[in-house]
Formats: sequence, structure tokens, C-alpha cells
Amino acid sequence: MKTKVAAVTCGSYDLEEVYSSVAEAIRRIGFVIPENKTVLIKPNIMSQNKPEQNTITHYSVVDALCRILAEKNNRILIGESISFYLSGLTEEAFKTSRIDEVAAKYGARLVPFEGEPLVEVKGLYIPKVLLEADLVINVSKLKTHLVMRMSGAIKNMFGCLPGGYKQKMHLLSNTRLELAEVFVTINEIVKPALNVMDAVVSLDGGPAANGKPVKTSRILASANPAALDAVACRIMGYAPEEIPALACAKKSRMIGDYSEIELLGSVDQKKFEKLKRGPLNEGYKSNGFFSRNGYAWLLIDDSKCTRCGECIDQCPVKAIRAEHDEIILDKDRCINCYHCIYVCPEKAVNADQPFVIRMIWKLAKALKFA
Ligand code: SF4
Ligand code: SF4
Repeated sequence: MKTKVAAVTCGSYDLEEVYSSVAEAIRRIGFVIPENKTVLIKPNIMSQNKPEQNTITHYSVVDALCRILAEKNNRILIGESISFYLSGLTEEAFKTSRIDEVAAKYGARLVPFEGEPLVEVKGLYIPKVLLEADLVINVSKLKTHLVMRMSGAIKNMFGCLPGGYKQKMHLLSNTRLELAEVFVTINEIVKPALNVMDAVVSLDGGPAANGKPVKTSRILASANPAALDAVACRIMGYAPEEIPALACAKKSRMIGDYSEIELLGSVDQKKFEKLKRGPLNEGYKSNGFFSRNGYAWLLIDDSKCTRCGECIDQCPVKAIRAEHDEIILDKDRCINCYHCIYVCPEKAVNADQPFVIRMIWKLAKALKFA
């Protein structure tokens, strides 16, 4: 049987137009919206960016999905973890993206993944909430990507890993293909039932805000994230074989022959400068300065800590222990998920970065590199 991908024209982020396009895309692929279920929406809100920067899933696409789900009395969660964590910045990203307004409108619960307990599946630590939801909807933004060439449906699920755990995975991956395997494994674990892509205005030269917007005027949808990305490749002028995430998806049989995709609608190739091509398995600077220092350090404030043991119990990798009335954090074992910050009743656990790194990030933000 052919894998269906819908491509519906959508010329703007007008709420009604986006709603009609998303509803039509879902109808074309024959996806049945559930009733009275718990549905988790995973948009791409990687940073504290604004909708007009075109780096994040536009809130109107999330609004459309919430409206469609609310019409069938579903309970909605919207979950995300930003790229470079400091305390409170995932919550801040919900605000700058205006996703918090959408959540308030539909009574949805915002879920910073750092706050959720993690469970180990296939060697990865995944927020339990993603596995407990009746279904997950993956809502990506179409972008070219400095390292992975494309940021689409498969890659968007990388944001399910909380806090600095994403940076740890970057550090542990020697090549693009190794990192892409992590993306594919997360998709296999979470199994998003529906994948919707905001390709109304896409980003060339992403993922950061110094990229250029490209009007691509489409909402895409598919039950298969790899098929969706393969169609999105046509818009950017990439062959699927050039995208690490798709190469790994093919190897893991998430997708078979690309000719088996049934495109319901049409896509046009637009002018994307794209990014330097090279062998898929070439290494990248995963151990570069930013990767090594981009995630926050954990500090336990001894004067606030009551030795309650909550962080010890909740740490998914047993990186915290009590020794002679002292709470010890094993930095080598820690995966930087930052869950202990959320569970400490005394707010004794904090994330921080050296002053110089904080200044560099401020500068990167000002120059639109973050
Ligand atoms: S100590 Fe444990 S809970 Fe805290 S960030 Fe590290 S791995 Fe996560
Ligand atoms: S949860 Fe907080 S107060 Fe309790 S032992 Fe850990 S750091 Fe101390």
C-alpha cells in the first residue's frame, strides 16, 4: 500500500486559512481524529523566538490542530524542550512563540519536558508523558539545517529529549548519521500517529534566526514522518538520499521505496541556497566549543538543601547520591536532563553557565545566531 502525504496550499498564517488547510490535509490522508483521548502536540519551538522569525512552528498551525482536537473533546498537551536550556527558558519559549495563548484558548496543558519523569527505552531516556498520551502529533517547521541539512518531521522529535540531554547526544555522535540515528530511534519509540508540517513560510539557512524566509505556501501531513520529509525535500531541492535523517529512516525501514509515496496535492521546488553538501557520514564539530559548553551546569545550594532525597529518587540515571550527609552529583553520569531542578521542593538545584558563556549566548541572540 502506498504511503500518503498531503500537500495543501496555504498562502498565509491567517487562522481560518490555516485551519482549513490543516483540516483538508488530515482529511486527504484519511487520518481519523480520535474522540475523548489525551493527545500530545509536539511543535518545534527550539528557542525563545517569535513567530515572525520563521524559525519555529507557527502558533496558527498549533491553533488549528487544537481546534480540530477540541471539536472531538480531546484533552490536549503541548510539549517541548528548547535547544539550549537555562531554568525557565522552555516556559519563556512557550510565551515568545505565542503557544501559551493557544494553550489558554483551548485549555491545553503546556509541558516543558524537563519537568517530566523519564523512562529508559532502547537506551534513550524519554519523557514518560509522551508514552502515556493516547497519541502524539508531531508538528514540525520546514527549514534547512546547518548540520543536518534539513529540519523536518523526523528531526523535530529530537526536541523530546529534555534540557541539555540533546547536547549530550550531539557530543556522543561522531557523524551526522550517528546523530540522525538518535532522531529515528525517538520516532520509533514515540511513534507519532500524525505528522503535520508548517511549510507556509520556510527557513533557508536555519535553524537559527539568521536564516532567510522562503514562501513555500504548503501545509503537509502524513502518518509517516519519513514520507513527509521526503516530500518536503522536493520543495528545497534536496534528494532524500542527501538527508542524514532519511538515510537512517530508510535503513531502519521506516520508509521503503520513495516511489511508493502517494502525493495528494502538489509541491513546487523553491529557491533555497541550501547548505554545503558532503558525505553523509562525515564528522562534524560535535565536540566544538559551543557543544561542550552549551549546556548548563548543575549546582546544588547546600544552604537550601534539606537532604529530602527527592532528587536522588527521581534522577533517571542515579547520578545523585547522599554521602555523609552531603548530596553529591556525579557529572560524568548525569545526562543533563534537568529533571532534578523541577523536583527539588526547596529550589536548591539550579542550572547555570559560566559568565563568559552567558555573554556569548547573549551576543549570539543579538546577532540572530540563536
Ligand atoms: S542529576 Fe539526574 S536528574 Fe539531574 S540533570 Fe543529571 S541526570 Fe537529570
Ligand atoms: S531534592 Fe533538593 S532538597 Fe531534596 S535532597 Fe535534592 S537538592 Fe536537597
